[in-house]
Amino acid sequence: MIALNVIRVRNYISPSKLPGVDYVANPYVGCPHKCMYCYAEFMKRFTDHSEPWGDFVDVKRCDEPINLVSLRGKHVMLSSVTDPYNPYEKKYGVTRGILEQLKFAECSVGITTKSYLVVRDIDLFKTMPNVRVAISMNSTDDGFRSEVEPYASSVTKRVEAMNRLHDAGIATVLFMSPIFPILTDIKGVVDSVRNCADEFWFEHLKLRGPYRPRVLNYIKSRYPQYADTYRYIYEMGGRDYWEGVSDLIDSISQGMRYDKFISW
Ligand code: SF4
Repeated sequence: MIALNVIRVRNYISPSKLPGVDYVANPYVGCPHKCMYCYAEFMKRFTDHSEPWGDFVDVKRCDEPINLVSLRGKHVMLSSVTDPYNPYEKKYGVTRGILEQLKFAECSVGITTKSYLVVRDIDLFKTMPNVRVAISMNSTDDGFRSEVEPYASSVTKRVEAMNRLHDAGIATVLFMSPIFPILTDIKGVVDSVRNCADEFWFEHLKLRGPYRPRVLNYIKSRYPQYADTYRYIYEMGGRDYWEGVSDLIDSISQGMRYDKFISW
């Protein structure tokens, strides 16, 4: 059961320190996709919620128009700490309302989502001169997906969304994030969208947040045969694992546009 509130905010847009991102828009506080590894969980301490992260959503409402002049030549990302197309977007349309304003700003817009709902806005993307949509996906195995991203769209629907966006002429990115050691079939994911992704981004699983024990316990109970590898990587600093992943990405990405966010 999700605790749902509508809250008033003064602005939808905030400055960002993320690399290559000038501003972010987070239309919701909280994210009901409840990914096991959600790196945005730290946001809970900035809310008044007693519910666990993933069990509340605040729907933002802002009466002030976005200052479009300040965004000229900048890059705006939706979103950094929620999924802009989480299921509540269907009813509340906050993301769409923000994009309807941003289309008049002379800025570039990057969208990242795990939701098929993004195809609803293809008509709007077509009117935006500089928009790019990244679909985040880290497996072709929907059983694994349903365990680590229980309320996000299925693998099949994400691939379908990529195809529909691409067919509509929208710039697409496959954002493979986070890459789970052993469990993410990197080549399999690339191959599943090779014909419809204009670009690929790769990011490895970091275990620095409160989700660290959750993920490690999951591996221990669900994939005990891999527990030693995870211990090696995350407790003994096994850097060479990610070096190998990085080399693999280079070898399968020949001729593709891609970026790696993998460090060790
Ligand atoms: S979609 Fe993103 S913000 Fe939402 S729960 Fe998953 S990782 Fe967190």
